[in-house]
Amino acid sequence: MTVEVIKKNCIGCGACVQTCPFDALDLVDGIAVVNPEKCTDCGACVGVCPTMALTLEDRRKPDETPKKAEEKIKEFKPKDEKVNAFFGVWVLIEQSYGEIADVSWELLGAGRKLADELGVDLCGVLLGHNIKDKAKLVFEYGADKVYLIDDPVLKDYRTEPYSQSLAILIEKYKPEIVLMGATTQGRDLAGHVATKVGTGLTADCTELKIEKESRLLLQTRPAFGGNVMATIVCRNHRPQMASVRPRVMPMPNKEEGRSGTLIEETINIKEENVLTKILEFIPQGGSAVYLDRADIIVAGGRGIGTKENFKYIFDLAEVLGGTVGASRAAVEAGWIDVAHQVGQTGATVRPKVYIAVGISGAIQHLVGMQTADVIVAINKDPEAPIFKIATYGIVGDYQKILPLLTDVFRQKLGS
Ligand SMILES: Cc1cc2nc3c(=O)[nH]c(=O)nc-3n(C[C@H](O)[C@H](O)[C@H](O)COP(=O)(O)OP(=O)(O)OC[C@H]3O[C@@H](n4cnc5c(N)ncnc54)[C@H](O)[C@@H]3O)c2cc1C
Repeated sequence: MTVEVIKKNCIGCGACVQTCPFDALDLVDGIAVVNPEKCTDCGACVGVCPTMALTLEDRRKPDETPKKAEEKIKEFKPKDEKVNAFFGVWVLIEQSYGEIADVSWELLGAGRKLADELGVDLCGVLLGHNIKDKAKLVFEYGADKVYLIDDPVLKDYRTEPYSQSLAILIEKYKPEIVLMGATTQGRDLAGHVATKVGTGLTADCTELKIEKESRLLLQTRPAFGGNVMATIVCRNHRPQMASVRPRVMPMPNKEEGRSGTLIEETINIKEENVLTKILEFIPQGGSAVYLDRADIIVAGGRGIGTKENFKYIFDLAEVLGGTVGASRAAVEAGWIDVAHQVGQTGATVRPKVYIAVGISGAIQHLVGMQTADVIVAINKDPEAPIFKIATYGIVGDYQKILPLLTDVFRQKLGS
């Protein structure tokens, strides 16, 4: 075994140098270099590298090599044959008073690929009241079947009737995979349903794949503060349940007029038996932050320096018709509300343009915005890691740059 450095991934953060107990790593021209004389292949550096720039190459002969996780997964046979009775990929179509959350369409796009690989149907699950007309859209976004429960008890989202309804459907139709959005509603529902049907749940996945031989769903998500991407499998229980954040998966195309099979089910949940009552529904006011739907985001970080200076960010966002984002450091400094936070513990965004101002580019921030179509970084430090993923970079003091940009855009856009 020997530690190898993948130079193109190395951001020169020095985490490996600090961690190595044998002083075997150094930074040369901002890139990690291993001293083979000192390296004992302990692997401590590999575990702390935030960009997976270090690998522990296996140089043993094939017959000495232990089986890799991928091989073990391929050969996996479930302990209980009952799991083989589960078929189909389901997506929970999240709606609130008839408005469907975009993440449901994104999941139908991802689910279509999984279902095709497995050779099974892709099914949407619609729960609510007076929502039958929404089934048409679910077919147009790729579902072969829609399971519908339309009942007055499901008018408002409440954990008990929703989790009971979904659990009833799962127990009756036995899907092998159930996907839902990692939204406020999805996060609440997913854990309850998984517990009711006695299976596992992988929350906040960023990638979903099928291992064809074992039919297992490979559910990848960041772990250990974003330092490791963990691939999780649910081997002995069904369905395999995963939640995915909005904007992580691409939006599929809608096929007008596409149709499928509608399966209507009924439930026998009495209103008087539901413990939670909704007294009033007050929609969020005009100041709501819809980061996950924004096409243009101007985000500020610790480099902005003060709460008052965030006006530079708000001004540019206003001129561009964009939304304001922030790093966790800016939120923790009390300069802006947490609703604006982008990143691992904030929103995941996929705008057309992301302008990062005074943000260094820590991995926990990058995982929330790196799929933006165009990234513009403004930072006074030319070595800031954000420049490694930026489409365009401007090195300098934002207090000089932002007013100029704001003026130019105001003139060009007349806003
Ligand atoms: C478990 C965990 C979860 C986390 N989740 C998140 C998350 O969801 N989102 C998130 O953002 N972070 C998250 N973090 C924190 C993350 O690790 C970083 O600490 C944070 O992103 C740093 O924010 P920043 O880039 O604004 O600040 P800094 O890293 O301090 O960077 C400030 C930057 O501003 C630049 N600058 C300073 N003055 C100027 C100026 N006048 N003009 C231009 N540039 C200037 C500096 O050069 C520097 O690059 C998490 C951390 C942990 C451990």
